This record gives sequence, C-alpha cells and structure tokens, in this order.
Amino acid sequence: MEKFSFKKKYGQNFIVDANITKKIASLSDVTKNDLIIEIGPGGGALTKELLLKTDKVICFEIDETLKPELDKISAKVIFKDFLKVDLLEIIKDYDYDRLFIIANLPYYITTPIIEKIIDSGVLIEEMYLMMQKEVGERLKASPKTKEYGSLTVYINYYFDVKKVMDVSRNVFIPKPNVDSVVMKFKTKKEKEKVINETYFFEFVRNSFRQKRKTIKNNLSEYNLSVVENVLLKNNLSLQSRAEEIPLKVFVEISNELAK
Ligand code: SAM
Repeated sequence: MEKFSFKKKYGQNFIVDANITKKIASLSDVTKNDLIIEIGPGGGALTKELLLKTDKVICFEIDETLKPELDKISAKVIFKDFLKVDLLEIIKDYDYDRLFIIANLPYYITTPIIEKIIDSGVLIEEMYLMMQKEVGERLKASPKTKEYGSLTVYINYYFDVKKVMDVSRNVFIPKPNVDSVVMKFKTKKEKEKVINETYFFEFVRNSFRQKRKTIKNNLSEYNLSVVENVLLKNNLSLQSRAEEIPLKVFVEISNELAK
C-alpha cells in the first residue's frame, strides 16, 4: 500500500504483520463451502488470508479510495457503510453451508456493528472480531465484576463469547493507542427462553441505569414484589446491584413481569 493516507474518522489501523492475519484466519474451521463476511477489509491484508480458506468472501468497506488496492484481490467488495446495508438481502443469493464473520473492526463502531449483525437476523455459525481490549473484556465479563453490564447480558443472550487472541499495538500502521484482542462469538444453539425480547432488553438496560444504585432504586417503576420474589429464590435481594445478576435470573424476572 503505497502512499495511502489513513483516515482516523474511519478507524483505519491496518495490520502489517502477516503472521497476525494468518493466525486470525486460522482460528476458525472455515472450509470452501462456507461464506465469510469481512467488515472493513482496508488494504486486504486479512482478506487475502481468508480467501485461502474459501472463495466465498464478501467485504464491506466504507472508504472508496481503497478500491485500487482491493481490486487486486478476488473478494467481492461492497463499498458501503456496513451499518446501512441489508445483510439478509445481500447474502440470499449465495449458496453456502455456514456463515462466518471475521474482521478487524473499525473500533469506533464496534457495538453498533454487533447490534446490526444481531438485528439483521442472519444465521451465523461463529464470529471472530478484533476490537479494543477493554470492549472485549466487557463482552465476556462474569457477574460481580466491574466490566459486567447490560452489553454483556445482551451479547451473552445470543453468543458464547471468549477471548482467543491478544494483539499488540505494534502490528498496526498507524499504531493505535489501545491494545487489541480477537473475540470469538459462537451462536448459542439453545438460547434462554425469553417471552418478550424487546421488554427483556429494556428491563436489563433499566436495571443497569445507574450502576452504583440498587435494583430497588433502578427499577422503582416495575412491580417490585415480583422482582423481589425471583431475586430471593436466587439468593439475591432488592438491595443487590445489577452487576450481581446473571443472565438467567434477568430472564426469569423479565418473564415473570411480562406474564
Ligand atoms: N482489515 C484491515 C486490516 O486488518 O488491516 C483494516 C481494519 S481497520 C481497523 C477498519 C476498516 O473498516 C477500515 O478499512 C475502515 O475504512 C473500515 N470502515 C470504517 N467504518 C466502516 C463502516 N461503517 N462500514 C464499512 N467499513 C468501515
């Protein structure tokens, strides 16, 4: 990539160490009948490695000035803002066994991208997403840790999440001022049985509204005796904080309230 001027507004930090892109591409068991979606191929460093696994790779890149570079490789590149595409419509023309999403994400929109993927309704086998270390820690956090929040509960409702790789800031150009991790998301075969998902997610967000406050304070507009009953059954109380409550207890309370 000669004389490319990196755009900070698009979160452009490109991987320049081929060992790292090779390693990311080897994390999954993708085979030639699988489809990979890559968000933000940049100069195509990771894309080239993904193409060695399957020729069914669709990339979404917002920056059209990367076209000359990306024209050199055989992936299909759609030059659009990933947050605005109709994913279901685009992949419906492809014949494939399993769908993987593998990407070194633009960090400024990590959460909106994951939300977009979930909301699109596409059936995903696994995702391997590189992101800022602190965000990765929030996504895989356990209850009773300071990283555990409504985002953790939301993501863990859909996926089993774990960290699979640490990535040094020295493998990027330009060098970012944060550390990175690659997180693996495996779609849960058996999701918790939630009666009303919209109600559930709103309930979880409200529970965490003010992190230092008790459930009693954060949920004053809900039927607190119903909430208390479920909490007590699970060795918690209205004096507990949301960060102490596991996913399955949030589900239980919200289902009782939504009845
Ligand atoms: N995959 C390359 C690599 O690992 O070297 C580049 C990764 S860079 C961290 C993120 C990429 O996402 C950039 O190429 C950037 O232009 C692109 N990008 C930023 N916002 C985007 C959006 N809304 N939709 C699609 N691509 C986006």
